[in-house]
Amino acid sequence: MRDTVLLAEMTWRDAKQAAAEGRIVIIPFGSIEQHGHHLPLATDSINVDHVAALAAREVGALVAPCQVFGVSHNHLDFAGTMSLEPETLVAIIQDLVASLYHHGFRRLLLVNGHGGNNATVEVGALKARKRFPDALIGHSYSGALGRDARQYMRSEFVYHADEGETARLMATRPDLVEMAHAVRDVTPVFTTYYRRYYAAPDGDDPESLTGLVTYGLPPTQVLSQSGTMGDASVADVAVGERAMDSVVRNLVRVLEDLKAREILVADPERRP
Ligand SMILES: [Zn+2]
Repeated sequence: MRDTVLLAEMTWRDAKQAAAEGRIVIIPFGSIEQHGHHLPLATDSINVDHVAALAAREVGALVAPCQVFGVSHNHLDFAGTMSLEPETLVAIIQDLVASLYHHGFRRLLLVNGHGGNNATVEVGALKARKRFPDALIGHSYSGALGRDARQYMRSEFVYHADEGETARLMATRPDLVEMAHAVRDVTPVFTTYYRRYYAAPDGDDPESLTGLVTYGLPPTQVLSQSGTMGDASVADVAVGERAMDSVVRNLVRVLEDLKAREILVADPERRP
C-alpha cells in the first residue's frame, strides 16, 4: 500500500485493502466563498483538508477528496463565491457515502470546515444514517473542534476572514495570505448582530439571544464591505499553528473514539 492517507492518491487495490482493514474515511467539507481582501476563496477547503490529513495520519484513517463547494448564499454578493443549494449538498453527501459504503467502509466522519454548511451536513448525515444503519456516520464542525483555540486570539470579534481564519491559513498556505490587505472590519451593524444572535463575547450579556433563537446568516454585504468580519490585521502565524494543532488534537480524539465505537444494529426479529 502506498504511504498516503489521501484516498485520491491510492490505487483501487489500496482502497480495497483499507476497507477490509475497517479503516475510517474522513470526508472534508469546505467552501468556495469570499474571505476578505487578503484570503483566497478556498480558505475553508484548504484549512479543513489540512487538519483532516494531519489527524488521519496519526490514527491510520483515510481522507476522501474535499467537497469544496458548499452552501454560501450569504456571500454571493462577492465575486468568485460559488454556492450549492442545500438540497444539492444533501444529495452529494448521499452519493459519496453510498459509494464508500458499497466498498465496505463502515466508519465515516464528515468533517465540515465551513459554518454555513452545518445544517446541511447534519441533514445529509441524518439521511445517510437512516439509509445505512449498520454504518457509523459521524459529522463534526471544525469550529467546534477548534473551540480551545479561541483563547489564543487577540481580537474581540472572531467571525469570518478574521484573525483566526487568517492565522490558520498563514500556518498552512502562507503564500496565499496577503497581509498588506488584511483589515479590521467591525461595523456597528455587525457588532449588534454578533452580540445578539451569534455569540456573547462577554458571556452573560443580557442582550444576547444565543442558544434561544437563530435567524440564519444575513447577506454579508450588509455587515461588511470588505468581507472580513473581525480583525484580520492582528493575525499571527504562531497563533495559527497553535489553533490548527488544537483542532487536530480534538479530531484525533474523535477518530480514536470512532475507531473503538461499537456499531449497534437493531435485530428486526427481536422487536420488544
Ligand atoms: Zn472561512
